[in-house]
Amino acid sequence: MKVTQHIKRAKKTLFSLEVIPPLKGDSIQTLFDNIDPLMEFKPPFIDVTYHREEHVLRSRKDGGFDRVSVRKRPGTVGICSAIKHRYDVDPVPHIICGGFTKEETENALIDLHFLGIDNALAIRGDYMKPDNKFVPEENGNNYAIELVEQLMEMNSGAYQDPELENANPTNFCIGVAGYPEKHFESPNLKADLKYLKAKIDAGAEYIVTQMFFDNQKYFDFVDACREAGIKVPIIPGLKPMTTKKQLSVLPSIFHIDIPEELFDEVEKCKDNKQVREVGVEWGIKQTRELIERGAPVIHYYSMGKSNSVYRIAKELF
Ligand code: FAD
Repeated sequence: MKVTQHIKRAKKTLFSLEVIPPLKGDSIQTLFDNIDPLMEFKPPFIDVTYHREEHVLRSRKDGGFDRVSVRKRPGTVGICSAIKHRYDVDPVPHIICGGFTKEETENALIDLHFLGIDNALAIRGDYMKPDNKFVPEENGNNYAIELVEQLMEMNSGAYQDPELENANPTNFCIGVAGYPEKHFESPNLKADLKYLKAKIDAGAEYIVTQMFFDNQKYFDFVDACREAGIKVPIIPGLKPMTTKKQLSVLPSIFHIDIPEELFDEVEKCKDNKQVREVGVEWGIKQTRELIERGAPVIHYYSMGKSNSVYRIAKELF
């Protein structure tokens, strides 16, 4: 079933989560161990991230270095299928521009369609490490909107090969990313919203937000989206803070602010056990207010660790 159908049918705020594929060589059991306890809160859908290849330097015997390409977290399509069959929950694969030609994207989407997967989150994807700017593949998609357009073409039965006749149309419900604190490359929020609206006008049916720790940023973002004519559901994404290091890591990776009150509380903690307590308390407070203000779904970035998410959900779902 489509994410938007789940939202339409729901009589209250839904619980959902995002998982990341295990590191290459690890077992899928690690992932199941993360998801199993959270099934108590009946997530109607679970997002699975996609990770492109990275370039790393490997030292040679002669003292030089080889630049090699490694994909550390493969398996998104297989994991989606495993989640669907183990939990009878709708998986939402993330589909990215980076590292894929349009044809490779199409082939992955064909696999997902054959597996009966009805949803896809269309995003540009992170830079290839260690680059510091996004470079599309030759014949690949450059912005998420192009991915939305490709998905919409497939939904109308148009594939990359123009000679295909009577091709089977797919039926993906397409989600896209939104940034309450603005995407870091965007000159200002207005410009960012212009491109967000273009993704919706191209066919995306809902938005999932970047994580935030200040609910007011989400409420303001929703108001700004509505003013800009964006009418689709906007799903807030939350991540409980679990380590002191995240005070600097999260702003630097995700380009978000940590509210002063949360910063002060975490700074006072003697160890990460105390930080986790603060993170759970903060997450409960955020979740409670978002539910009271009618958020359609609360989407948790579990990042391979479900403990804090479990404790927050136990309180409110
Ligand atoms: P886009 O919508 O393409 O926007 C990128 C930037 O370009 C923005 O600044 C936008 O304002 C601007 N822009 C858009 N269109 C145009 C245009 N036509 N002309 C000029 N400028 C334009 N990364 C991964 O690698 N894997 C994942 O699984 C993953 N999952 C994510 C899930 C969520 C909910 C979120 C919020 C992010 C996720 N990311 C993931 C990170 C994401 O790939 C990065 O934030 C990326 O830098 C931007 O992706 P986007 O889809 O928002 O890009």
